[in-house]
Amino acid sequence: MKILVLGGTAEARQLVAALGDAATLSLAGLTRTPLSMPHRVGGFGGAGGLAAFLQREGFEGIIDATHPFAARMSRNAFEAAAALGMPLLRLERPAWPKEPAWLEVDDLVAAAKALPAGARVFLTVGSLSLGAFVARDDIWCLSRSIEAPAHPPANGEVLLQRPPFTMQNELAIMSRHKITHMVSKNAGGAATRAKLEAALQSGVQVIMVKRPRLPAVLTVETVAEAVKWVENLGE
Ligand code: NAP
Repeated sequence: MKILVLGGTAEARQLVAALGDAATLSLAGLTRTPLSMPHRVGGFGGAGGLAAFLQREGFEGIIDATHPFAARMSRNAFEAAAALGMPLLRLERPAWPKEPAWLEVDDLVAAAKALPAGARVFLTVGSLSLGAFVARDDIWCLSRSIEAPAHPPANGEVLLQRPPFTMQNELAIMSRHKITHMVSKNAGGAATRAKLEAALQSGVQVIMVKRPRLPAVLTVETVAEAVKWVENLGE
């Protein structure tokens, strides 16, 4: 079976490593991660471009292992698979269970609106998701991301760090910068979870952006289940 794995997550890399020659990893190309596995980089040009690529290259199945907030790519995968009648699986880590102390919001704009004037904010939403916060000159922001943001909030600092993060790291950041609020996407997973416990311990208000709604497709939570799905396809 020839499988295209849509990536951008650690799980996608683990899956391609587990599938071996059967799989090709596809990346948007936003971060510079050295890879020693079969991969391709860059957008396809929408759902139509993805369908044409899948057909031209002779793929027989797609696994959408993109980040839970990469909604456009997931919708394109759904549409391309439907157009071709191609099997599609989604590999998605579970969301973090809601804590009573969190303020949950639907999107980043709502998260920015929820921040009071004078807040000292730890922004952990990624370098491409800072737009809603740039216009807020009445708050101070520490923006953490893997790649340097092109347009960080003017009033604040940028911190370049790559997960996984330890409790010690997260507690030190919140204390050093006198953080009062933290904005996070509900990405799930262990690599960035320590910030949630650190925020609770430090009395930092967590503003949690809920996951976007995605098309209903067959979904598994682990790499092992995704490997099994591929094995069953071949039978
Ligand atoms: P998005 O809004 O869903 O996708 C924007 C466009 O980028 C897509 O329409 C597609 O272009 C291209 N693209 C996205 N993922 C791709 C992939 N795996 N292979 C090839 N092209 C891809 O996604 P995003 O939120 O900008 O995220 C971009 C990538 O970063 C994703 O792969 C995601 O897994 C990863 N990521 C995202 C976040 C996040 O918070 N959003 C966090 C960590 C990692 P075309 O339409 O031209 O095909």
